[in-house]
Amino acid sequence: MGISIAGVRTAGSASGDGLVLNGVTVVDTRTGELTPGTAVHVVQGKIQQILPAGSPLSGEVIEADGKFLIPGLLDMHTHVLQQEHAIETSSALMLAHGITGIRQMAGTTEMLRTRKAGRLKLGEHAPELLTLCGEILTPVNAGTPEAGVAEVKRQKAEGADFIKTIFVSPKTFFATLEEANRQGLPYDGHMSPGVSLAKASERGMAAIEHLGPTELTLIATSTRGWLINLLLKLKPPKPPDLSPEAMTKAGKVMIANPILGRLHADPDALTKTKRLIDSYSDRKARELSATFVKHGTWQCPTLIRNATMRLGDDPTYTKSPNLRYVDATTRAFWDSVAEMFSQTVPAAGRETLSRLGEMELKLTKTYDECGVKMMAGTDFGGGWVIPGVSLHQEFDLLEKAGLTPLTILQMTTLNGADFLRRESTMGAVETGKDANLVLLDGNPVESAQNLHRIHAVVRAGSVYPKQALDELKEQVAGRMTTDGPDL
Ligand SMILES: [Zn+2]
Repeated sequence: MGISIAGVRTAGSASGDGLVLNGVTVVDTRTGELTPGTAVHVVQGKIQQILPAGSPLSGEVIEADGKFLIPGLLDMHTHVLQQEHAIETSSALMLAHGITGIRQMAGTTEMLRTRKAGRLKLGEHAPELLTLCGEILTPVNAGTPEAGVAEVKRQKAEGADFIKTIFVSPKTFFATLEEANRQGLPYDGHMSPGVSLAKASERGMAAIEHLGPTELTLIATSTRGWLINLLLKLKPPKPPDLSPEAMTKAGKVMIANPILGRLHADPDALTKTKRLIDSYSDRKARELSATFVKHGTWQCPTLIRNATMRLGDDPTYTKSPNLRYVDATTRAFWDSVAEMFSQTVPAAGRETLSRLGEMELKLTKTYDECGVKMMAGTDFGGGWVIPGVSLHQEFDLLEKAGLTPLTILQMTTLNGADFLRRESTMGAVETGKDANLVLLDGNPVESAQNLHRIHAVVRAGSVYPKQALDELKEQVAGRMTTDGPDL
């Protein structure tokens, strides 16, 4: 059942030759410079020309005096395609929050084949799928360096855009990284315990997700070498001896909140985290940053994902009014995971997790100061991470970390284009670029809060006025009373 809404206008159809955003202030995502009083002419999904306001241009005119025009927002870490029951609604919700492009962080052979056949669809009202990997490399499909290398070759042949790794052994990590480089595939993902971040960067890792995870970065920034050895023993969650159904459920719990998985594998995990925080060295963090800069390693911090994990039972998330966009089955499941979190994490652990949150902001700020390239992502697919909404929460957390409004704007527009090497068609409001745009009610260079004030979205040349965006949200919320996956 498709989502149909009124009020979406497609440029170049009923309205003649295109769409004119008249009187708008164009925001330069590279410099933050503003050009007020312009007319942006969109024809057939592209920005055809940018002229002074009032220029004679054909097409439907939208008067946009006092509005600010930026490229569409990018969520550079999502798992929307895995939400089989909710691809269409999640995609619509993302679009309604200004997201016009996404990076899908887990794939399957089936997804790659469907895409190759031109049949992979996110829905009628959806962001563009910018990039897709194959199956995540794990100890299951990459249990040895040889198996991992064969898997990378296989994924390349299936048409994967990049490789994503999580928790493979150090030997497999470097063997698959090397193979990915040989195949011309960016190598992104989670660090493996026992792998040096600096070495991964030197060898060509393209992007580190979730700040590491953070604990693995804190190993690199700790002054106490013996601790490093201790923490290298930190193991991925050991599968307990359970029935297949119970295993599936345990896996879902760990995806919803990986902290529970860590504590299950190692009840002392948070004590170790505390020691790492206590021995944090700003000097070492800056040295690490310099390595990332030198070798062009990106970071996608996903602070909102990290926050929803650390604050796994916090009412900010568990009682959020935005849960109306989440189906009842998923909500009930998240509630049960929150309950487990409440029972599992002791008071001292909570204190550590709160300090870990401060470290995440500090690391993000340090990376920014040192010039490490970063992009905004959310990890939608994790517990309490709501599509669309979460990218705006990410902006708030980046702001809390002390990043400037311009940097935050860049992280969700220009930088994604840069990372994907698609700056010729994305990332800026310029002639010739794809017409994926967001019209804001306030200046995003003055305050990142203005990124929340969406007046309209242009997606592939079609315009969604505020009313249409609100209608999309309402339709998604309306569906959530009945739809739900089997959890
Ligand atoms: Zn992810």
